Amino acid sequence: MSKHNLIRGISRNGGVIFCGLDSTALVSEMERIHKTGAVTSAALGRLLTAASMMGIMLKNEKDSVTLRVDGKGPAGMLLAVADGKGCVKGYVENPLVDLPLRPDGKLDVGGAVGRDGQLSVVRDLGLKEPYVGQIPLVSGEIAEDITSYYAVSEQIPTVCALGVLVNPDLTISCAGGFLVQLLPGYTDDEIDRLEKNIAAMPSVTQMLSAHKTPEDMMQMALAGFEPEVLDSCSVEYQCDCSQERVERALISLGREELERLEKEEPVVEVNCQFCDKKYHIPVRRLLKGIEK
Ligand code: ZN
Repeated sequence: MSKHNLIRGISRNGGVIFCGLDSTALVSEMERIHKTGAVTSAALGRLLTAASMMGIMLKNEKDSVTLRVDGKGPAGMLLAVADGKGCVKGYVENPLVDLPLRPDGKLDVGGAVGRDGQLSVVRDLGLKEPYVGQIPLVSGEIAEDITSYYAVSEQIPTVCALGVLVNPDLTISCAGGFLVQLLPGYTDDEIDRLEKNIAAMPSVTQMLSAHKTPEDMMQMALAGFEPEVLDSCSVEYQCDCSQERVERALISLGREELERLEKEEPVVEVNCQFCDKKYHIPVRRLLKGIEK
């Protein structure tokens, strides 16, 4: 078995594709950076897991996909960005949200995210304009919203399952998910069989807790389709911020705003919202750049 945490597979007839990810390490890194509470760890962890799998499906490594969920819930806006290698970063507006568990004992992710808003998916494929798809949220539970996005916006029948299990001390016990998609030409029989397979599967966190791998998940989801692994890789939480990017963002505020800022804070401190790295930037230097 490989040490990779993400696999892609395909059915023998080529009509069903699978992507599965054990995102425990990357969601743990997110929790370490953002100090999220249980329900926001679950919400952002699910979104990051989905984004990573959607990232790896892009054609080129430099392409990116951004998932933005704004459901007007107490968690506020959630954002996840993945590159074509499946590496992700993200943040949630309010990392600490206190909500009672649902009657079934699960974290109330839909309650934290809210349901009165949109999921938007922006795919930047290096062209002049990015592709933007937007759908109304179904439940705010993330997996259903991703499934709906594919059905409504891309007309691709998709099953998405996501899960994050949080320990009592708020560290991440396990996290992961999978995506199953049907390519054009599928039959009703195939849909029936997939639906039965997936309905019979335990939840993602139950499978991960029982030490099942993404490949095991593929064998269960695609039972009867003789699936095989196409490729595997390691994806992680990764931020690509830099001094230069932060300076560019500040310069975009414009001369007037920078002059005002310089009076308040000659050396401005900027925290990267994705990784919390701190940058100290002398405003005067930026202003000199603009004066030219
Ligand atoms: Zn950063």
